[in-house]
Amino acid sequence: MQKGSFTLDSEVNDTNCTFCQHSSLNRYLLKATPTFLVITDHAPLVEGHLLIIPKYHYACYGDVPAELDAELFALKREVQQFLAYYYAPVIFWEHGIFRQTVFHAHLHCFPFGPIEYDLSQGLHAAVVHSQEDIRAWYSKRGHYFYMENAQQAFLFAPEMERYLPIIQGITHAVIARSGQRSWRSSQQRQEMGAPLIEATVARWRLFQQQGA
Ligand SMILES: [Zn+2]
Ligand SMILES: [Zn+2]
Repeated sequence: MQKGSFTLDSEVNDTNCTFCQHSSLNRYLLKATPTFLVITDHAPLVEGHLLIIPKYHYACYGDVPAELDAELFALKREVQQFLAYYYAPVIFWEHGIFRQTVFHAHLHCFPFGPIEYDLSQGLHAAVVHSQEDIRAWYSKRGHYFYMENAQQAFLFAPEMERYLPIIQGITHAVIARSGQRSWRSSQQRQEMGAPLIEATVARWRLFQQQGA
């Protein structure tokens, strides 16, 4: 893994917002609700890597209004059930606007299974109890990153010395489980992503048919 140059997203050169152009997302689209889309990541880290994005342009989830919380939670639950059923328990991850490469709110949903986060390290700035905690941080302090495992959700201050240990813990676990030798670049992930995306879409359809 290349320290410092790590990003979860592919670099986007287009100055237009990719996530606002819904027609370009069609091949990745799993589900649309009144305000949100569930899509597969176009450069997946692993099969089952999804994104929950609002249809409208918000900078990050700290910018998404409270009226949308219930719709968001319902989608998160659905994604959680899907990933746990076919893959492994979910980890939710959001950059906020820290190191974002698509400047439109998107919640990464990874079937990474149990990821240990050692609270005693004190890397986190806050334990998150509701979306309101994220909005409050964003309005007062701006940048953040967010991580939610099966037990708890955390906000981190946007500092590389906090970001890298978290992301490295996650990526080491992923590399170990997937049998990969090393971390793939976003270009490699994009090139190798098509079968992962197809498999994810097929399983999502099965999941929907089962009415789970
Ligand atoms: Zn991202
Ligand atoms: Zn946008």
